[in-house]
Amino acid sequence: MEYSKMNIAELTALLEKREVSARELAADALKTIAAKDGAVGAYLTVSEEEAYRQADAADKMRAEGCAGALTGIPFAMKDNICTKGVRTTCASKMLEHWLPVYDACVTERLKAAGAVMLGKTNMDEFAMGSSSGGSAAAVAADECAFAIGSDTGGSIRQPASFCGAVGMKPTYGTVSRYGLVAYASSFDQIGPITKTVADNAKVLEAISCHDRRDSTSLPEFDTAYSALIGKDLSGMKIGLPKEYFGEGIRDDVAALVKNAADTLAKAGAQIEECSLPAVRYALPAYYVLCCAEASSNLARFDGIRYGFRAEGVEDLESLYRKTRTQGFGKEVRRRILLGNYVLSAGYYDAYYKKAQQARTLLIRAFKELFGRYDLLLTPVAPTPAYKIGEKSADPMEMALGDICTVPVNLGGLPAISVPCGRVAENGAELPVGFQLIGPAFSEAKIYQAAAAFESSIAAR
Ligand code: GLN
Repeated sequence: MEYSKMNIAELTALLEKREVSARELAADALKTIAAKDGAVGAYLTVSEEEAYRQADAADKMRAEGCAGALTGIPFAMKDNICTKGVRTTCASKMLEHWLPVYDACVTERLKAAGAVMLGKTNMDEFAMGSSSGGSAAAVAADECAFAIGSDTGGSIRQPASFCGAVGMKPTYGTVSRYGLVAYASSFDQIGPITKTVADNAKVLEAISCHDRRDSTSLPEFDTAYSALIGKDLSGMKIGLPKEYFGEGIRDDVAALVKNAADTLAKAGAQIEECSLPAVRYALPAYYVLCCAEASSNLARFDGIRYGFRAEGVEDLESLYRKTRTQGFGKEVRRRILLGNYVLSAGYYDAYYKKAQQARTLLIRAFKELFGRYDLLLTPVAPTPAYKIGEKSADPMEMALGDICTVPVNLGGLPAISVPCGRVAENGAELPVGFQLIGPAFSEAKIYQAAAAFESSIAAR
């Protein structure tokens, strides 16, 4: 049996029939990682001992009759989410050897569900870039059955689109940020990356909850995310905002996304072109606000309380300066500088305040559209994946890749990336995803439409 290729639902069926144990699945997954990850580079840490410990606990849960949907399922965790006793580095020199003394809320929830953590995945330093790349690659390369990512401006959806996986950024406040190393707190949200839509809903059901330790965690909401999967789409209205199909979006990508719209129409949805002019403010507003928030959040890495400390310092100021210069990479330093600038006296009104106003405009525009449509359908990214380092010389180029994903984070909305085909690139065929965006708490409807798409494709 090729366990590594199987999705959560398939593995659960085998576990239930006792055809395989959690321990055997963990061993098989660790073997796949050993064979493949040298080339893929999805993992920063493989926590083999911990994986076997959790697998044994999962087998015990099942033996005792208290197994759930994720019991015994091997998964990978993004390396900005705290895992007690397992290195959590944010892919930064600053935290290279940091061992958290506590679990993030999401880590606790997955442990309680009996899921088996294989290790921690690679990312852009402190999530600044297309950051949950390791989590998406691990799923796509069959190096885990599912992975957890975080999405501040697209970092679950964009890598999922690039790798041909399903990635969900849930409504802000539905998954606790407790134990997620903060990048831009008013945007950051944790979510699942999976092989299928149904799996994705199951993982989200396991991780979302109210948590008093996160002050933005919402008190009450429905977590029956799988509830509408399989129901037909008649009566569902989906808008196609024309601004998302214009300049900068590659034609072959736009064509695949429009094909996806046709497929959804055949599945019963009513598709209509619409307009969201306020998206033009999204990218500049996002980059001002996320840098401002990052400059404040990353102030804690001062060489005193956490992680790396520079050698050969003369006084407190040189300790701060040298530690932060040596411990942070170039992109992180650039954003801290920019964030401090937009927050400084004299510039605050022109940048920070203005960006907040733009955010409000966008939120209103979304609200207005969701008065007419259940969901919106757009591309996830303007292009397929680029080569390593191809865009790092030009931060502006890199930022343009986020144009379709950041509006969602500004609005705190849920959105999914679903694979919808491949385009030719550098002699290869690379995956492309489409995005479904909904109003707050519309995850069940998003999964309903995404699953309908997925099954019509499978039926072809
Ligand atoms: N590319 C965006 C940024 O660098 C989004 C990153 C993310 O979602 N973590 O800010």
